[in-house]
Amino acid sequence: MRLLGLVAAILAVAAGTAAFAQAAHTAPVQGTQIAYFQPRTLFHSGLRDTHSVALTFDDGPNYRTPAVLDVLKALNVKATFFIVGNMARAYPRILTRIASEGHLLANHSATHALLSGEYDRHPEMLLDQIRAVNDEIAPLMRPGDQFFFRAPYGSWHSAHAEILNADPVLRNYTGPVYWDIGGDITMHDGYVMSAADWDCWHLHWTADVCAKGYLREIRRKNGGIVLMHCIHSQSAALVEAVVPALVEEGYNFVRVDQVGEFKQYETPQTAPAVADAGSIPRPNVVNIRSASLK
Ligand SMILES: [Zn+2]
Repeated sequence: MRLLGLVAAILAVAAGTAAFAQAAHTAPVQGTQIAYFQPRTLFHSGLRDTHSVALTFDDGPNYRTPAVLDVLKALNVKATFFIVGNMARAYPRILTRIASEGHLLANHSATHALLSGEYDRHPEMLLDQIRAVNDEIAPLMRPGDQFFFRAPYGSWHSAHAEILNADPVLRNYTGPVYWDIGGDITMHDGYVMSAADWDCWHLHWTADVCAKGYLREIRRKNGGIVLMHCIHSQSAALVEAVVPALVEEGYNFVRVDQVGEFKQYETPQTAPAVADAGSIPRPNVVNIRSASLK
């Protein structure tokens, strides 16, 4: 997992060179089509130096998630939960609780699959991975809530976006979204300068030690999207050690759908009409961002 940033960066470069190779594969759609899944991972949240944090919890829910929810509730902090479909089906009541307490549900694939090139050769497999979670979370989301996706292991291909954006429902997603904080453990002169929760637990660190890494990275960057998980025995203790300190320091907490940088990728309320789209040469739809439309 420590290599994820590097892997994702390599994938992003590879995606650039291979971008739109499958454009002919995607059939034209009547009217305006705007791609919401982006060909490259959205590494830039724009939250650094804003004194704002978006807490994100991946891979749940499971039976340890309620303890995390209890801490967030006591602090009145809202977060974003990137849901795995299999877990949602195993813990439906906890999934419902996440939504009912004002957190944003988001999509993290059905089985936490590594979305390799295999999924481009078998588009139905890719569609199933995203659709299975969508079917679980969409009925629980509030009208107007935006849909977000985070790729397991950060693995993403531009061809994935082409496939998913051809689906009239799934193309409404923004993503894949990455993170600014929580990606890896780094040390300096014996100080924990940054931390990643899964790796903290792997190293048998306490929640307090792990929290030092999170807090130092958050303070250094003065905001960002924070990656955590809600499924481990120490998950709640970590939140308890990190979040009250941030509240004390006046940090602003936002859900991922409140991140201004991502608004450009969202579905406009009313899609602009395109006259006689069939006869006009259209630019590659994946390149169009809603912000560029007037
Ligand atoms: Zn994950």
